[in-house]
Formats: sequence, structure tokens, C-alpha cells
Amino acid sequence: MDERIASPGAGRSVTDAPGPVLAVLRDIHQRHLADTSGTVASYIPELATADPALFGIALATADGHLYEVGDAGHCFTIQSISKPLVYGLALADHGRAFVLSKVGVEPSGEAFNSIIFDERTNRPFNPMVNAGAIATTALIRGDGLAARFGRVRALLSAFAGRELEMDERVFLSERETGHRNRAIAWLERHFGMIDERLDEHLDLYFQQCAVLVTARDLAVMAATLANAGRNPLTGRRVLAPEHVRDVLSVMHSCGMYDYAGEWSFSVGLPAKSGVGGGIIAVLPGQLGIGTFSPPLDDRGNSHRGIRVCEELSDRFDLHVFAVHPPATVIRQQYRDGEGCFRHRRNDSEQAALAGCATAIAVYELQGDLYFATVERLLRAVQAEFPDFAFLILDAHRVGRIDSSARRLLTMLLEMLAAAGKPLLLAGFPEEAVAQLLQPGEAWPADTFFASAETALTWCEDRLIAGGSDG
Ligand code: GLU
Repeated sequence: MDERIASPGAGRSVTDAPGPVLAVLRDIHQRHLADTSGTVASYIPELATADPALFGIALATADGHLYEVGDAGHCFTIQSISKPLVYGLALADHGRAFVLSKVGVEPSGEAFNSIIFDERTNRPFNPMVNAGAIATTALIRGDGLAARFGRVRALLSAFAGRELEMDERVFLSERETGHRNRAIAWLERHFGMIDERLDEHLDLYFQQCAVLVTARDLAVMAATLANAGRNPLTGRRVLAPEHVRDVLSVMHSCGMYDYAGEWSFSVGLPAKSGVGGGIIAVLPGQLGIGTFSPPLDDRGNSHRGIRVCEELSDRFDLHVFAVHPPATVIRQQYRDGEGCFRHRRNDSEQAALAGCATAIAVYELQGDLYFATVERLLRAVQAEFPDFAFLILDAHRVGRIDSSARRLLTMLLEMLAAAGKPLLLAGFPEEAVAQLLQPGEAWPADTFFASAETALTWCEDRLIAGGSDG
């Protein structure tokens, strides 16, 4: 294994040095501490022993910073919060198309233990209700219960960044009393949605639900999703980004049972709750939240957990549909000749360059490159297209370059090449260069330069050589 499993409390916690973020968490925790609404789940007898007073909040940033208050280190069973993560494992095991043939992605508007299936396809509605989760768990590969649970536990541990254990008593308690889930599994067997290892699938499902976590673990799990599947504490990739996208999609539409619509309206974060009292919520690219408070509302969601997430979303403006318009991508734009490099040339070179002062267009870029910012850049380039012979994109201030930006830049390269105008990429981060050099994409040798200056020199050399040729 290529991971460092961190112990609980690993990561850079700032619990002892309160700053504005921790101050807000403490304030929220304090104001909801006395709220005793809700009832601890008791349909799994062992869960009824939970102390209703326990209350913890943790927030982990997508780069691995932890904030925590209250009982954020107290262990409880993950229950349904395992569902989206195990769904990710099923996607990794079988691919999207196959998993979709077994479990839908439609919000059911039903309670978590609903026994209703999609009548047209006989599939459970989605992987977040028990029926869909049992069918998802049935897809987990492995030879026998122990091996399969080993894989599930390894996955959940990698998400949390530490080795997680299972609560044997909660597992056995649900195994003995989970008749409704057993009935769901039999129906799925009847419809041919799960294979004959019905008891094994159910045991695996009950075991995954009985894995012990803390609110801190939940925040790290959520931050791993926020970080596109790479655990920000261990640096380990847990799930591929395309599976994370699918997981977040179902969390967004179905994660909070029959409260999912209202939740996505008011809180606006992909989330999942569990009857153990936990909730995770994810703001993609930014942070993960984990809350723990055992008393549940009548929909099976942690009462105080919901209040906390509502308030955090409100106070930090975390709603995924809060629109952040794209930042300015072109920091400055100039032509060689306006720059300061030509004075290094000797007299005859300067003379050769004098006639073509504006042949080299330089765009200094900043921020992230994705569809909206690259599209703006392309429009600016297109407007100037007739006037330049060389185009230099200077990216030394650029951050992330996504796949859409890479595709558009490749197309720009091809268009310019067809017009006989070289495109030079200067100061692109090494990782971006590696990504741009995807197999099959033929970038000319003279495309990548360490800096705008070396790229300009290359263009000038061509102009000088061209001038003396002619
Ligand atoms: N193990 C629980 C069940 O299947 C999970 C339910 C939940 O957390 O919502 O009933």
C-alpha cells in the first residue's frame, strides 16, 4: 500500500489556536448544544444505547486542514454514510454502465428503508436508500465475506486516512433484527438484481454500516471527495475523479432521503446522513463537513447535524449554486518590441527585427484555466489573429488546467499550425505539460518553454533568420 495511515488527530489541527473559522464553529456548536430535539434510533437495538448529548462538528479543507469542536473524536457507527463511498467502490469495480443497470440514480422521495422499486426496470431507485445500497454492496468484488469486507474497510479507512474498525455488537444487533432489509434483499433476488449469495451480501452491508468513525473522520472523508478523490491528509488517491463526480451527484439528489430536495435547496451541499447520527457534506474543491449528534428527526436525519450544516452553509456562503463569476484570465497582453528583451540583440539583429515589431503576441495568463476562462482567451486571440505571426501564452501565474482547457488549447494549437503560426506555451506548470502531452496529441518539439523570455528569443531568432533568408 502506498499510503500513510494517519492516526486520529493527524493533520494540522488548529484546535488550540482559534482563528475566525474555528470561532464560527465554536459559536454554532455552543448555540445548538442545548437543543434536545429528535430521538436516538432504536430499530437497531444497539444504537439505542447512544448518548443523545454527544455533539461534535469537524470541518476539513480540501488541502488537509482540520477544525473540530465538541465530541468530534467520539466513535459511532457510520451506517448509511458508507453508502456513497461503497457506491464509489462498485463503480471502480464494474464501471458506470454496469452499476447503472443494477441501481438507478433517481431520487425516490421515499424514506431510507423504502421497499418500493422502479416499476419499469425493477431497479432500486438510487444507491442512497437501503434497497439501492444493498444492491450496490452486492456488487463489491471479492471471494467470501471476509475478503469483501476487507476491501470495504480498506476503502473507508483510506477515505478517513486511518485504520477503521467495526463495532461487532452493532453488526450483530442489526443482523438479528434487520428483517426489513432482509425482505428488500429477497425482493431484489426475486427481480434478479442480486445473486444467490444473499446472506453474504446482507452481512457485508450490515458490516459496512457498523464501521466506527468520528465526526473528524467524516470531515476527512468529505474533504477527500472535495479533493476529487485524493485524501488531503495522506496524499493517497482513494477514488478516481470520474467516480467521485458520480458519487457527489447521487449525494446531491438523494443523500438526505425524503428531505433531499429541501436540503439541496437550503443547504446546497452534496451530503449523506446515517442513523448513527452522522452527516457528511461536501463543497467540491473546497471542504468537507462531518457532524455527529445521535438524536434524529422523523426522516432519520440527525436533527442538530442538519441545523449545523444549514448554518455553516449560510454563514460561509457554501451553497454549490452560489455563483462565482470567472476571474480575469488575461493579466496583460503585449507585443514583442514593447517588451524589454530586444536590447540584448546586436545592431544587425535589431535591424532585422525592426520591421516586425508586432509579429509576436504575448498573453500573460493568471488563475485557473477551464472552459469559461479559456473561452475568453480564445476570443481575444481570435480578434488579433490577422496581426500576429507567433503567439506566446505565458502561464507562470496559472493554477489548475482542466481537461476542457487542455482540449481547447490543443485545438488552438492545431488551428494556428494550419495557419502557419506557431503557438508557444511558456512557464506552464510541469504537471500541465505532462497532461497536454497526452498520447496521440502531437505537440511540435518547440512548443514548451521555461519562460516567456526564452519563448520570445526563439521567435525572434526565427524572425531574424527569416529576414536574412529573404
Ligand atoms: N444500517 C442501517 C439500515 O440499513 C442504515 C440506515 C441509515 O443509516 O439510514 O437500516
